[in-house]
Amino acid sequence: MFIDTHAHLTDKIYDANLDEIRANYLSKGVEKIIVVGYNLSSSIKAYELSKRYSEVYFAVGVHPSDAKFYNDEAEKTFISLSKDNKCVAIGEIGLDYHYENIDKDVQKRVFIRQLELANELNLPVILHTRDACGDTVEILKSNSALLKNGFLMHCFSESKEVAKELLPLGAYFAFGGAITFKNAKKQEIIASIPKDRLFAETDAPYLTPVPKRGQVNAPENVVYVYEFMANVLGESVENLKAQFSKNLTTLFKGRI
Ligand SMILES: [Zn+2]
Repeated sequence: MFIDTHAHLTDKIYDANLDEIRANYLSKGVEKIIVVGYNLSSSIKAYELSKRYSEVYFAVGVHPSDAKFYNDEAEKTFISLSKDNKCVAIGEIGLDYHYENIDKDVQKRVFIRQLELANELNLPVILHTRDACGDTVEILKSNSALLKNGFLMHCFSESKEVAKELLPLGAYFAFGGAITFKNAKKQEIIASIPKDRLFAETDAPYLTPVPKRGQVNAPENVVYVYEFMANVLGESVENLKAQFSKNLTTLFKGRI
């Protein structure tokens, strides 16, 4: 079984042909997908998709780029959606300083509030960080008591030193299509992380892996990420499939 731990099948780019996208990934053996929310409406849509497709699980949360839209209504909805047995995490949440027009203090406040929420609901966290590594690590360290359910660093693109700092806090690391772009450093980072803390993802529709670069990404392409990681780790794809399935059970405590 292949697992895509991070896909945005709620993106409107898929609205016209989602059944076809699904037939494709099922035919490749992708049997579990976490559809990750990034604001209130995508979280609700992710929940609805999980009702439509048996292999779809979902996470609810507000992405740092949408931090200013986090409010009581969103939080109440997340709490009620979290009661669904296919809700597996709070995410994607975190910090993103790539675009300067998004207030950093608001991002930090909303990030910490959602870490509290995950802790209250006993759910792991799916974490996004971009150009904000220092503050992300600092917030995670100073809120480590809120991380007892574990967290998954999605599309991990920081250094192996950062990975080493986060491992004792309970971090898991997912890699996506970006690792297949020419960059030897990524291989070193993957190899430095214990296999029982690794996952593969697509982040579809973004970050399409080689050899499909230039096309809209889809969960079926997680197969290329597995192949690439297997190569880096000197493992067979079959072994990696078994390892990541085990990791899924451990991090998501049997919810998936
Ligand atoms: Zn994402």
